[in-house]
Amino acid sequence: MRHSPAELKRLDRDHYLHPFTDFKALGEEGSRIITHAEGVYIFDADGKRILDGMAGLWCVNIGYGREELVEAATHQLRELPFYNSFFKTTHAPVVKLAEKLCQLAPGNMNRVFFTGSGSEANDTVLRMVRRYWALKGKPEKKWIIGRENGYHGSTVAGMSLGGMALMHEQGGPCVPGITHVRQPYWFGEGQHTSPEEFGRECAQAIEDRILELGEDNVAAFIAEPVQGAGGAIIPPDSYWPAVKEVLARYDILLIADEVICGFGRLGEWFGSTYYGLTPDLMPIAKGLSSGYLPIGGVLVGDLVAETLIEEGGEFFHGFTYSGHPTCAAVALRNLELLEEEGVVDNVRDNLAPYLAKRWAELAEHPIVGEARSVGLMGALELVADKTTNARFDKSLSAGNVCRDICFDSGLVMRSVGDIMVLSPPLVITREQIDELVDLARRALDETAARLA
Ligand code: PLP
Repeated sequence: MRHSPAELKRLDRDHYLHPFTDFKALGEEGSRIITHAEGVYIFDADGKRILDGMAGLWCVNIGYGREELVEAATHQLRELPFYNSFFKTTHAPVVKLAEKLCQLAPGNMNRVFFTGSGSEANDTVLRMVRRYWALKGKPEKKWIIGRENGYHGSTVAGMSLGGMALMHEQGGPCVPGITHVRQPYWFGEGQHTSPEEFGRECAQAIEDRILELGEDNVAAFIAEPVQGAGGAIIPPDSYWPAVKEVLARYDILLIADEVICGFGRLGEWFGSTYYGLTPDLMPIAKGLSSGYLPIGGVLVGDLVAETLIEEGGEFFHGFTYSGHPTCAAVALRNLELLEEEGVVDNVRDNLAPYLAKRWAELAEHPIVGEARSVGLMGALELVADKTTNARFDKSLSAGNVCRDICFDSGLVMRSVGDIMVLSPPLVITREQIDELVDLARRALDETAARLA
């Protein structure tokens, strides 16, 4: 039976508990029903075409409607829809995917552990890191330092590693032994000084925390190369080099969460490559399969992997869907397509510089305090007063107003407080970037008019 849109909305309201949604706020109007998608566009039940400036949820890197991925899934579903790899079994799709990932990853990474999501990847990382130090005879190295406003998922470990205060307030307590330091968010927290100086201050905050906790007690530092869900927070150039020095000084592992930055978002296969990092562990997900099927994992550097393998015996950890053959087959085909079509190179050499130029024009808008971008990730800081960068009154929910106007006028941009974030599919064209910037500008005009 085919449901009418009205019927679907009613059933949605009655039965479906959406992620990250205030149910009461859905109101009579209910949810927007998305029916299909093609390229960089999604379509809703009213037949409206919307440019997906968020690539789904930072994940549809290859764009929508790729038959090759449908074929990869169909073929694998017929051949072997599921089998686990727990007890000395394996299968071709997962092995080939692991090999491909290790080819693409920085040179010190030759092993992958698979999960069903980015959150599970971060749960895995937490256990691996503590197990590693225990095997090294340093069980006191337990503390993990994350960042305020960082996002590492919604499982208990994921939300504990993340630094989202609103998440910590619900369903806690968090996993013990995790602490958070300031984020390198110059526009929001660093305007007392230059971006470069602020980047160094933030790295210093990590060192200060290490000394507070005791330099022998810190296991790892976890961070996204560029914070995504926190608001596309691009660190000042001084940040990562200074952080690298601090971590090396105290023998602390680096976990680079590549769930958003991985697979071309910054114009390199990994955000770590963009910033010249050689992490010990890299959680991955999202762009790995371009969101077509759920799959995540952890790329594990030789240092940790060899210890776990040589000294660890069985690691009592794994998920039913670790290395799911159908998800692996789709992910592999997705990586092949990204490679064959030169998608990542095109982001670096063509699209990222073009977006940077067009996006920067929005900085002149009366309610934009800063327009920043790196690769195909961008943010607009909404402000009430451009001369002082004062924010709109919180009660106005300027970001949400702008987000809704965008959606209604044919563009998906997400709001994080009063930051509008952007992360379109990597197959977007220059013409579509023009369309996106025009839509964003008109949405800003309307937001300004409505909030005036
Ligand atoms: N890590 C980062 C950086 C993310 O952005 C996300 C999701 O947005 C996650 C982890 C969690 O991934 P998932 O939603 O697949 O569990």
